[in-house]
Amino acid sequence: MSDNGYIQDLITDTVMSRRSFMKWSAVMGGTAALFANGAFEGVQASGEIPAEPDKIVWNACVVNCGSRCPLRLYVKDGTVYRVDTDNTGDDTWGQHQVRSCVRGHSIRQRIYNPDRLKYPMKRVGKRGSGEFERITWEEAYDTIANKLKELVGKYGNESIYLNYGTGTLGALICTSWPPSATPIARMMNCFGGYLNHYGDYSAAQLESSLPMTFGGGWVMNNSIEDVVNSKLMVYFGNNPCETRMSGGGLSYSLQHYKRESGAKLIVVDPRYTDTGVNSADEWIPIRPGTDAAFVSALAYVMISENIHDQAFLDKYTIGFDRDHMPAGYEDQDSYKDYVMGTGKDKTAKTPQWAAAITGIPATRIVELAREMALTKPMFVTQGWGPQRQANGEQNCRAISMLPILTGNVGIHGGGTGARESGFGIGLTSFPTLTNPVKTAISVFNWPDAIRNATEMTALKDGVKGKDKLDVPIKFIWNYAGNALINQHAEANLTHKILQDETMCEMIVVVDVHMTPSARYADILLPDTTNYEKTDIAVNGDTSNMGYAIFCDQAIEPMFEAKSVYDMCAEIATRLGVGDKYTEGKTTEDWLHYCVDETRKTNPDFPDYESFKKMGIYKVTNKAEPYVAFQAFRQDPEANKLETPSGKIEIFSSTLHNIGQKWELQEGDVITGLPIYMETWEGVSDPLKEKYPLQMISAHYKQRTHSTYGNVPWMAEAAPQEVWINPIDAAARGIVHGDKVYVFNDRGRTHVLAKVTPRIMPGVVQLPEGAWYAPDANGVDQAGCPNVLTRYRPSPLAKGDPMHTALVQIEKA
Ligand code: SF4
Repeated sequence: MSDNGYIQDLITDTVMSRRSFMKWSAVMGGTAALFANGAFEGVQASGEIPAEPDKIVWNACVVNCGSRCPLRLYVKDGTVYRVDTDNTGDDTWGQHQVRSCVRGHSIRQRIYNPDRLKYPMKRVGKRGSGEFERITWEEAYDTIANKLKELVGKYGNESIYLNYGTGTLGALICTSWPPSATPIARMMNCFGGYLNHYGDYSAAQLESSLPMTFGGGWVMNNSIEDVVNSKLMVYFGNNPCETRMSGGGLSYSLQHYKRESGAKLIVVDPRYTDTGVNSADEWIPIRPGTDAAFVSALAYVMISENIHDQAFLDKYTIGFDRDHMPAGYEDQDSYKDYVMGTGKDKTAKTPQWAAAITGIPATRIVELAREMALTKPMFVTQGWGPQRQANGEQNCRAISMLPILTGNVGIHGGGTGARESGFGIGLTSFPTLTNPVKTAISVFNWPDAIRNATEMTALKDGVKGKDKLDVPIKFIWNYAGNALINQHAEANLTHKILQDETMCEMIVVVDVHMTPSARYADILLPDTTNYEKTDIAVNGDTSNMGYAIFCDQAIEPMFEAKSVYDMCAEIATRLGVGDKYTEGKTTEDWLHYCVDETRKTNPDFPDYESFKKMGIYKVTNKAEPYVAFQAFRQDPEANKLETPSGKIEIFSSTLHNIGQKWELQEGDVITGLPIYMETWEGVSDPLKEKYPLQMISAHYKQRTHSTYGNVPWMAEAAPQEVWINPIDAAARGIVHGDKVYVFNDRGRTHVLAKVTPRIMPGVVQLPEGAWYAPDANGVDQAGCPNVLTRYRPSPLAKGDPMHTALVQIEKA
């Protein structure tokens, strides 16, 4: 496709414009290779758009972007030829139309893609070589079932692992995340279970650390609709305009509520993101991994000028000052001691101190501290960027200090500093039974559980449910996931571990496309897309409206593709647990079950047939916008938090004790206070002499992680480029559009340079998700950042630190 005007049409129109209509034939010609080889017989390659479809069916974009968008698919002669979006109602807010983004609009290029897996295959070359030969379904099922029986007999069920995968997410049955909710989990639970993992590649550091401050499990923030009550909004590393960029997503909600409230929005990010461009009043560029230093200096100014909320701190928190330390920890530094330099490090966290670390001018830090302390209510939120760092746990607890210091927790317009909450419909899920195995590893640690399993312990590696792992991973199920190589750190190391077939003996990949991870399969099973089967999807992050989408089957399964539910039924039968797995039910029977069960607690939810006709069912929140910890704020004695003290723990004795007890890698720390910690490959690492640029690999609108990474329209609309500031580019003789190498000791990748002041000097951005494509010399040709990132788990969560990496760039 060569006409960017057409892309613009896709972005701005909810239906194909006349101009787009006229160009349909040319666009489909762009995928002519699909038709030329006969792979997509029956798909119209050219000609007019059919005047009348045979049918228009509702379905959804079920990827891991945080939104969930309906797609209305126009079908003629068994082919999807047009993608439309929600057209229901009068589009008033609260019943607004959920319009999909440009990614969802390009779904035909995912359905009719030359990378589609067509038949079951077995590997014939070395792992990762991508050499396969076609086999029958019978052979595939028998091979898998026999190997499962052999390995479970020899090593036990803890040797079987369900790898992280979010390629199909939000549907009730054929969903790949969380792994425990998948049909594969149900099948394995019938057969004795599998090794669990905890955390995820999105927010592991946040999930592990924020509950230490606020208690409980997932820490909520006020809902996005509560922003109507805010006067100031501060976004740390949060970019919904690219990550959740639909009419059902947080970008639309942010723009709507910001318009209603008139609140000022400050975006703190190393990059001037699309959220910065579209919605922010001010961009504060900050060096990666230094959020805690920035917050410490803001606190210094607030405390020095006595504009923090001392009354709130006295009543609702522990650990702020010496008068409020938890019993038994009086000899430890309070937060005030740490900030003011009266603690053990004797360093006042002044704006000048923070300016040298963060790159934010000291004068601006002073002004921001005053603005944040004196503008109430203030809504602070963070995306996943600040926590996906080697010191990520510290960053996210530190960011939450801003609403705590200013007394904004538990009130309308305020919040906790966590991710925005939304309103949704709860639907009963497909039941996957209970895993008899209780042992769990961190989601990021699976390569060690292959190569060093018996050395992995609870205190050193965060193994849960046991003091140590007893057996290595010998079998991996990889369903709709690309973390087997592409989305995991240090791809060249992962490649070596996976290539050794004596370690992990079998890898089964279930997917729709030949992804980089699929190339590492021993057995490849072709999955149907969501458009070749029936399912139900529920909203992701949203607004004051929850919704559910009936995903009707649009076309017949292509080639020999089958749904994962049906594949598992066959394997379960061979494992002797077929009846237990299916309970005699088909997928559609289970969908009826989910709707019927939902209606028992929510009688307003439509019955199955009515829902199918509606396509999308929407509910407006009639209650007040959600306020996190509102009851605690109103009566902290009657509504204690689930922390040891029942209060907000600025000093966490739990974390302090973990820090004393756990065996941490050199340089790692876990502290009771949310303090700034220098890290490996951070802003002050001496390695900067050799590799002077901090690299982040943030989300990018071309893809949802790696999904849509093989869609030509998206690659043209938003090409893979490394963002580099003009100052850094000039120093290297690089101009916009040059081909460059980005490299460090772990790898090298070849990519185009985007020279732009939208990234701060000293920092480069190489978007995550590009499909790893090493050449014969191992040099990646796709701009995949994970050839450069490091496989070193973070201290507490043992999570992925993908935004902590030092690199150099040179002209290719
Ligand atoms: S990628 Fe996300 S925002 Fe875009 S259509 Fe899909 S679910 Fe919606």
